[in-house]
Amino acid sequence: MARIVMKFGGTSVADIGRIRNVARHVKREVDAGHEVAVVVSAMAGKTNELVGWMREASPMHDAREYDTVVSAGEQIVSGLLATALQHIGVDARSWQGWQIPIRTDNAHGAARIQEIDGAKLIERFGIGQVAVISGFQGLGPDNRIATLGRGGSDTSAVAIAAAVKADRCDIYTDVDGVYTTDPRMEPKARRLSKVSFEEMLEMASLGAKVLQVRSVELAMVHKVRTFVRSSFDDPDAPGMGDFDNPPGTLICDEDEIVEQQVVTGIAYAKDEAQISLRRVADRPGVSAGIFGPLAEANINVDMIVQNISEDGALTDMTFTVPSGDVDKALAVLEKAKPSIGFDVVQSEAGMTKVSVIGIGMRSHAGVAATAFRALADKAINIRAITTSEIKISILIDGPYTELAVRTLHSVYGLDKQ
Ligand code: ADP
Ligand code: ASP
Ligand code: MG
Repeated sequence: MARIVMKFGGTSVADIGRIRNVARHVKREVDAGHEVAVVVSAMAGKTNELVGWMREASPMHDAREYDTVVSAGEQIVSGLLATALQHIGVDARSWQGWQIPIRTDNAHGAARIQEIDGAKLIERFGIGQVAVISGFQGLGPDNRIATLGRGGSDTSAVAIAAAVKADRCDIYTDVDGVYTTDPRMEPKARRLSKVSFEEMLEMASLGAKVLQVRSVELAMVHKVRTFVRSSFDDPDAPGMGDFDNPPGTLICDEDEIVEQQVVTGIAYAKDEAQISLRRVADRPGVSAGIFGPLAEANINVDMIVQNISEDGALTDMTFTVPSGDVDKALAVLEKAKPSIGFDVVQSEAGMTKVSVIGIGMRSHAGVAATAFRALADKAINIRAITTSEIKISILIDGPYTELAVRTLHSVYGLDKQ
């Protein structure tokens, strides 16, 4: 007997038929004698709809009310799945974040989990009952519902797995594992049987939304054995209940991976915008003057390029922000103009950041040069570059996204044979 947390994403619970199918996956594990907690997302599209209603109600809405509204989709699915389980003879009960409770900080809309009391869940395991928990939500210090940021049910699942010391956390989604790149973008993408925590962390933070970044961090810190697998597989197909080797991708420590490739995957993030400040004084404190006010306004600045000034007096500063934050960023910069001192500010939205990720890069030279050459051969212009030990990120014009992803995927030999 083992303890398993099973998480089902939006497309996996998109209608009653699919919720019934999920119930069969859960029943399979219960029948095998395991203790099971389930974490659910809202039905596909529901959270977007709720976010849209909030924007319509007021563009400047209160984050606490946002959380009240957008957390509702998960509540519905938890009740429906508990009902579908009861219907097929599995003892189950729904749980909202506040009932457990899943304690978070006060950052409404993007809260971080601080503590989970696993006692009630463990009590239910003891009587053979399945706990069906609403993902994405917790309880803030103000005793109000707080949500964990988009895609946050993954994080709920891993955090609960850590709290109840589960043997495994299975993230069921609409693909059967983590691929070398988004399989929707490149049909030649290959499924990885294992991927290291570090690479998964980079892939997720660079745009592969198959797992929320925070969930990977938690899995790494708490050593949660996390599998990404498909909910669309027949729940009772052979091998589905294999405890040690379930079908899917295992996220694990680097040393568990025998055959390490130089490049493991390609990720992309659309909707980046580039902002350039022209003729900024080239003196100490100028970066602090620019990025301080942006940080205070909660704007996430990513790639930063500063040119060397020709005359030692004036330079250009270019950086990226999410497209949705451009107007806010421009307003902040205009306000800070007297203290920063620049000539003009220019902005361009609709960019994409494409990234090449691989632990093998630490010990291999020339990985970046290969990417630059391959993109040049396709006449794709590079606007900015950033690198770390295990990744290279390249900013390009949005319309070239698919071509760039496929080109890089193929140049590093990741295509399916
Ligand atoms: P869920 O609703 O189950 O949480 P998501 O839509 O959040 O599902 O994440 C699954 C999606 O992530 C897939 O449909 C796929 O298009 C996308 N994706 C992006 N990059 C990858 C990747 N490298 N491997 C697998 N899926 C990926
Ligand atoms: N329903 C939430 C969202 O769409 C959480 C999740 O799906 O993980 O962001
Ligand atoms: Mg998701």
